[in-house]
Amino acid sequence: MTVSAHPFAPPAHEAHWVVTARELATGFAATAAELDESAEIPLANLRALHASGLDAATLPEEHGGQNLSYRTFGAVLRLLSAACPSTACIWLMHIGAAGGLVQMSAPEAASFYADELKAGKRFANALSEPACGNLFLLPQQTAEPAEGGFRLTGAKRFVSGCEIADHFLVNALVDGTPAFFGHAPDDTMTYVPIWDTMGLRASRSQLLTFDGTLLRADRRCLPPSGPRPNHIAAGLAYLSLGIADAALAALTEHARSRTIPTTRQPLSDMQWLEFEAADAALKLDAAAMYAGHSMWLADQNSPGFIGSTVRAKPLANEAARDIAQLGVRVGGGSGYLRTSPIQRIFRDAQAGGLMAYSVEVCKAHLGKETLTALANE
Ligand SMILES: Cc1cc2nc3c(=O)[nH]c(=O)nc-3n(C[C@H](O)[C@H](O)[C@H](O)COP(=O)(O)OP(=O)(O)OC[C@H]3O[C@@H](n4cnc5c(N)ncnc54)[C@H](O)[C@@H]3O)c2cc1C
Repeated sequence: MTVSAHPFAPPAHEAHWVVTARELATGFAATAAELDESAEIPLANLRALHASGLDAATLPEEHGGQNLSYRTFGAVLRLLSAACPSTACIWLMHIGAAGGLVQMSAPEAASFYADELKAGKRFANALSEPACGNLFLLPQQTAEPAEGGFRLTGAKRFVSGCEIADHFLVNALVDGTPAFFGHAPDDTMTYVPIWDTMGLRASRSQLLTFDGTLLRADRRCLPPSGPRPNHIAAGLAYLSLGIADAALAALTEHARSRTIPTTRQPLSDMQWLEFEAADAALKLDAAAMYAGHSMWLADQNSPGFIGSTVRAKPLANEAARDIAQLGVRVGGGSGYLRTSPIQRIFRDAQAGGLMAYSVEVCKAHLGKETLTALANE
């Protein structure tokens, strides 16, 4: 009997993309600490990703891509995030913004954005507003009608990789309804350098201000039709899964190399740590399995995909936070030193749960759903 591959695993014909990501990740891991320190955009990593063909592979076939499956996209992102989460964060936002513009634009604009992605141009999402917080798909800033489009005055914050972006996916209220636009940077936009953060420092997710910026009518996206998996909604869990992998690897390495003077045994032989490691492995397996299910739904273009991301994301966010916290305990004073990857991973692990939709927003939704369902039984 032949054993078929797990349905949540990347399809066999895309296995080479996982190999490519693993090779790239080795180089990215080597510079992650330096980039965290300098908080510089990992431009060389992003260029290497484009040169590998991965950017273009995510596009639909009719736009010259390979319609890369969400299962493979997740596996790739997890490897990248374990190596350098800032690179993975900017890449996720880049692919999400480009893919969104290709999917939601009228045919001519869609082809334009697909060609720009293939040519190596960079994309970013300017969606979150200082006032709307986690509800980033419900902008509160209005773009007023003007000749050729709509003018936006306001601010978008935490725009990952904005300083190198050639195109933005921007949202604003038009006639009281959220609308999306493709927009190329111009001199009505200012980049405010607020990004001095505890983690994901090289993602440089700065504040952007708009002063009467014209959002062109011919770059306005069409209203969505039917279930459409979004790469960012799908990928955010994988950013955290990669960080959780890195946390588990770092704590394992430390525990196996550190000898406890009184017992002359490695720290990894202590029973308390064996139990904690088991809990960490179970948590990570469960989160990864659920995220795999979510990607499988995305590959079926199932309406169940959206509901699944509300579960996949907090499971992965909390696995990353908890395992990184265990790393700090295991690392002791050595892990607390700036030279240790343990402290960097702990700082990076905090971001996923804050990013929209935050763990709390997901749980508020799930809690209500659970209690309503139980009450109706
Ligand atoms: C590393 C990083 C990269 C990012 N990149 C981008 C990007 O490229 N583009 C972009 O547009 N945005 C980006 N964001 C923004 C992100 O998606 C969120 O919008 C932002 O982090 C929310 O921050 P806030 O201070 O407004 O939090 P708030 O929303 O004010 O949250 C504060 C607290 O309130 C809780 N809370 C808020 N609303 C609710 C609710 N309705 N129910 C229950 N609890 C709630 C939160 O869980 C949190 O505990 C990024 C953020 C980070 C951290």
